[in-house]
Amino acid sequence: MKKSTSCVHAGNSNHTPAHGLNTPIYTSSAFGYLDTTENIYPRYYNTPNQEVVVQKLCALEQGEAGLLFGSGMAAISTTMLALLQKGDHVILQRDLYGGTHHFVSAELERVGISYTLVKEPTVDQLEAALQPTTKLVYIETPSNPLLKITDVAAVGSWAQQHRLTSVIDNTFASPINQNPIPLGIDVVIHSGTKYLGGHSDLCFGATITSQLLRDRIYGTAINLGGSVNAATCALIERSMKTLSLRVIQQNKNAQAIAEFLQRHSGVQQVYYPGLPNHPGYNVAQQQMQGFGGMLSFEPAVEGSAGAEQFMRQLRVITPAISLGGIESLICAPAKTSHIKLSAEERKQVGVSDELLRISVGIEDAEDLLEDLEQALTMIHN
Ligand code: PLP
Repeated sequence: MKKSTSCVHAGNSNHTPAHGLNTPIYTSSAFGYLDTTENIYPRYYNTPNQEVVVQKLCALEQGEAGLLFGSGMAAISTTMLALLQKGDHVILQRDLYGGTHHFVSAELERVGISYTLVKEPTVDQLEAALQPTTKLVYIETPSNPLLKITDVAAVGSWAQQHRLTSVIDNTFASPINQNPIPLGIDVVIHSGTKYLGGHSDLCFGATITSQLLRDRIYGTAINLGGSVNAATCALIERSMKTLSLRVIQQNKNAQAIAEFLQRHSGVQQVYYPGLPNHPGYNVAQQQMQGFGGMLSFEPAVEGSAGAEQFMRQLRVITPAISLGGIESLICAPAKTSHIKLSAEERKQVGVSDELLRISVGIEDAEDLLEDLEQALTMIHN
């Protein structure tokens, strides 16, 4: 099935006496076990509503199996803690979601796992970071918030060559724009809170991989207990039916906004992989089916106060944290996703005080361009 069809149909489980089209919500947290082959329990990640969503995600990501978690961070932390043990070393891309960066620096060394952050995960830099104890390589592309592009197939084949497990955070791309498993990556993680949920009203995460790796992650997942309830699963399933439609519209709107901002004299810099002058444009074109709905830019303003003044002029695009929803949102990464980094660390990763990140929604592009134009005019007058 093509992706739009998988969004609508994959995994659906509607074998009920009433023949309703939608998967019923199994409200039970207790399930009979005498006549079953498997003990079903929400924290065992095997209730019917959890399985439907996992099957839809597997169809979209071309994975064999997966687990659904209560947040993206639960997916990230559980996956890493399950695949690594005391004495192991992990290589991560330096440009990571702030929460992932904080998890790695606050938790991994505490449990005896060392790590190296590489500036650009090119084969040369990965090779230089490799240690005899390295077990895992972790990337995120497009990256947050500067939309840097990593060559997914190159990382996947390098990891295979060194018998390392490769993991990617595919949140920004969504499964509609990028499928890392066929490109050679072992484990795909999503913060479903973003595009998969898509309406800024759900919090969940997912890990999609092979049956073998899912089984390795599973034991730790049960112990850490970050599962999702059935009612949320039903909302996730419903949201994902429109994932493809939403993302295609978000791709188109983001391209229009990026081109508009790049032409605008009140803007210093635009970061969007769909712009031919973006350093990752060629790789993105090869490995992505769309350039995504996320972009960042620096308006010609002074510091955090100038950036905030600009955001306060906007009438349609809403200053808010999070991304991937149907409504366009804007935020200053220095004050939101990257607030836990020190000023020095933010400087190192290129997150300036003026940087603004837009999560482009599904509104009419003309209204979004007009909104940006009037806000830029207001602050420059
Ligand atoms: N990965 C990326 C790229 C994110 O942007 C986020 C959240 O902003 C996460 C992971 C964490 O997801 P959650 O907030 O669902 O735990």
